Amino acid sequence: MTTVELSKRDDAAARELCDMACAAAKLAYCRYSRFRVGAAVATPHGVYTGANVENASYGLSLCAERSAISRAVSSGDLELARIAVACIDADPAAGVSESMPCGACRQWFVEFAPGLEVLIWTPSADIYAVRASDLLAVPFVLG
Ligand SMILES: [Zn+2]
Repeated sequence: MTTVELSKRDDAAARELCDMACAAAKLAYCRYSRFRVGAAVATPHGVYTGANVENASYGLSLCAERSAISRAVSSGDLELARIAVACIDADPAAGVSESMPCGACRQWFVEFAPGLEVLIWTPSADIYAVRASDLLAVPFVLG
């Protein structure tokens, strides 16, 4: 099993994008899990935010990352460069594990931008960075 290295980030641009993800998390519709997540995806043309949107039929719920990416893509902006993810209700004692993107979101990252830089904000205000292609080294590819 290969281990993925997460590197710490603390530059102003990373902080700003994470702040936007934290603000977006406050708009989450998460009446079932009570687990608020926000995301902010940056392109050369702007920043698109999203939050998790749950459904009584749990499997239909949408993660914050895919919510933000949907906004970018449906705006015609496919140049995803960096995404910040913030699970503001994650347990600080859990470290980064409760803040990591799920497998479905990893597949979305690789679909649109294998080189996407993924910033993971933790409730202790640490920021970790990793490439999408490192999070999902062998993705499903059609065609
Ligand atoms: Zn997800």
